[in-house]
Amino acid sequence: MKLRLRGETKLSQMTMYKKYIKRYRMPFSASILVLGFEAFCDLLQPTLLALLIDRGVAMGKLDVVVHYGFLMIVVTAIGAVAALTRNVISARVSYAASHELRRDLFDQIVKMSPTQRLEFDQGTLMNRLTNDVTQMQNFVTGLMRVFLKAPFLGIGSMIMVFRLSPEFAVVFFVLLPIMAVLMTLNLKYGFPLYIKVQESVDALNERLREFFSGIRVVRAFNRFGFETEKFEHVNAESAKRMGRAMRVLSIFGPSMSLVIQLSVVYVLFKSRLWVTEGQIGLGMLLAFIQYMLQFLFAMMIITRVFNLLVRAKGSAMRVSEILALVTDEEPTQVFETEKKTFKTIQWQDVSFGYLQGQMILKEVNFTIKAGKKYGVIGGTGSGKSTLLQLLMGFYSPTVGSFKIDGEAVSLNALKKFRCSFGYVAQDSFLFSGTIEDNLKFGNPDATTAEMVEASEIAQIYDYIEESSLGFQTAIGRGGITVSGGQKQRLAIARALLMKPQLLILDDSTSALDSLTEYNFRKALMERRPLITTLFVSQRVSSIMDAECIVVLSEGRISAVGRHEALLYGSSIYSELYDIQLGKGVSYDESL
Ligand code: ATP
Ligand code: MG
Repeated sequence: MKLRLRGETKLSQMTMYKKYIKRYRMPFSASILVLGFEAFCDLLQPTLLALLIDRGVAMGKLDVVVHYGFLMIVVTAIGAVAALTRNVISARVSYAASHELRRDLFDQIVKMSPTQRLEFDQGTLMNRLTNDVTQMQNFVTGLMRVFLKAPFLGIGSMIMVFRLSPEFAVVFFVLLPIMAVLMTLNLKYGFPLYIKVQESVDALNERLREFFSGIRVVRAFNRFGFETEKFEHVNAESAKRMGRAMRVLSIFGPSMSLVIQLSVVYVLFKSRLWVTEGQIGLGMLLAFIQYMLQFLFAMMIITRVFNLLVRAKGSAMRVSEILALVTDEEPTQVFETEKKTFKTIQWQDVSFGYLQGQMILKEVNFTIKAGKKYGVIGGTGSGKSTLLQLLMGFYSPTVGSFKIDGEAVSLNALKKFRCSFGYVAQDSFLFSGTIEDNLKFGNPDATTAEMVEASEIAQIYDYIEESSLGFQTAIGRGGITVSGGQKQRLAIARALLMKPQLLILDDSTSALDSLTEYNFRKALMERRPLITTLFVSQRVSSIMDAECIVVLSEGRISAVGRHEALLYGSSIYSELYDIQLGKGVSYDESL
C-alpha cells in the first residue's frame, strides 16, 4: 500500500478545507476570544498572590490579605466560566465539522467510479473516513481548547517575568532557541513516521475486512492458524511503526520540561542572595516560579497539540486525496428520476477492456428492441457479465458506443436509464434488514400487493409466506441467512418490484432447480408480457426459448438467432446443447 501523494492534491489541499474553515469561522473566533480571557485570568493569579504575600502576609495586614484573596476568587470564577464556555463551543464546532466532513467524504466515495474504486482498497477508505477524520477533529478540539491559550500564556508569562525582574528574563534567551530546535526536529521526524503508522492501520483494516468476508472459506479450509499469522504480521508491523513514532514524539515533552526546570533552578540559585538581602520579596520569587511553571505548562500544551498537528496534517492529506478526486458519477435515486423508456438499444462496435491493451469484448454489434426476449450464452470468462456491466453504465466502452433510439448516448445519459433496467447481478447482494427492506430497495413506495406480485413471479412468495414474520423476516448481513437459490429469487423480486422495462439477469437462476426456473419464466411471461428481457446464462435450457440468442465466444459475438437456427448454424451452440441436454430433448414451445 503506497501513499498516493500527487502534486495536485498538495496544491488543492487548503482549498479543500476552505469551506469548513469559512463555515466555522465565527464560533472558532468566539472560542479564541474566550480563551484570551481565560489566559488573562491565569496570568493575573501569580501576581495577585505575590501582592498578597509581600504586601499582606509579610506586613501583617489582614485587610490587604482579604482584599487580594477576594480578587483572586473573582478572577478564578471568571476563568472558570470562560473555560466552560470555550469547552462547549469547541466541542460543538469540532463535532459538527467532522460530521460534515465525513458526510462529504462518504458522498465522494459513493460517487467514485468503479475504476477509481479499484485505486483505493476498502481498508484505506474506511480508515480515512473514521480514524483520519477523528485525528483532524482531535486537532481542531485541541486547537480551540488549549493550543491558542499556550502562546497567550507563554508570551504573557514571559512579559510578567520581565516586569518582575529583567534579570530573571535572561533565561528566556537560552530557552526559546532550544525549544524552536526541538519543535522543528519533532515535526521533521515525527510526520513521516506518522504517515507510516496510518498506512499500517490501513493494511490492518483491509486484512480484517477480507477476513470477515472470507470467513466461511477460512472455516471450510480450516485455515484459522494461517489467517492468524497473516493478521499478526500486519498487526506487529503496525505496532512497530506506532512504537517508532511514539518514541520520537515522546522525546519532545520531557526534554522541554528538563530545560525549563533547569532554568528555574538557575534562577533560584542566582536569587538566593537577593531574597536574604531583601532586594526582592518572597512573594515575588514565588510568583516567578509560578510564571515559569505556567510557561512550562504552555510549552507542554504546545507539545501535545503539536503531536496532534503532526497526525492531523498526515490525515488531512489522506482525506483531501479523496475529496480532490474528480468523480464522474452523478448518483440519482432510481425512484426519484422519471422513468426513461427506450425503443431500441444498440451496441455499436463496442470493444472494452478493464486493463489497457487487453480487450475483453471485441467489436460487439447488437440491438435490443423493446418487448423482445433475449438470451446470451457463452463459456465461462467469455465476457457475458462484462457485456451487462457496460449496458448498466458501470464502465464506458473503450471503443464504440451505445445508441438509444438511434442516438448516441454518453455514459451519464446511459446511467439515467438504470431506473428502467432491472438488473440482477451474478453475485447478487442483499443488505442486512428485513425482506421488505431489501425488496423495496429500488422502489420504496411499493405496496404490499406489489411486493406479493413480484415475489410470486420470482417464485419466492411461498417461502416468505411460510416464514413466521413474512416480509418482516430478517436477513443477515450480505444475505447470510438465506440459501443461494432464495437469495437469487429475492434479488429477482427486488428487480421486478422496480417495474423495469428491461429485466437483466446475469446467470441469476443458476441456483434454481429446473422446475422452479421454468415456473419463474412462465409466471414472468404471463404477468409481465410486455417486459423486455435479457437473460445471461451458461445453461442452454435457461435461454433456449428466447426470441433472439446471442452466442458469445472470447468476447466476440459468434452467432445470433433463434434456438432452432443456432442448432444448425452455430457449432458452439450446438455443442453446448449436445453436452447439456443431449440430442432430442424437447422444450415447451409456448414459452
Ligand atoms: P462467467 O460465465 O464465469 O460468469 P463471464 O462470461 O461473465 O463468465 P466476465 O465476468 O465478463 O465473464 O469476464 C470476462 C473476462 O474479463 C474474464 O477473463 C475476467 O478475467 C475479466 N474480468 C472480469 N472482471 C474484471 C475486472 N474487474 N478487472 C479485470 N478483469 C476482469
Ligand atoms: Mg459472469
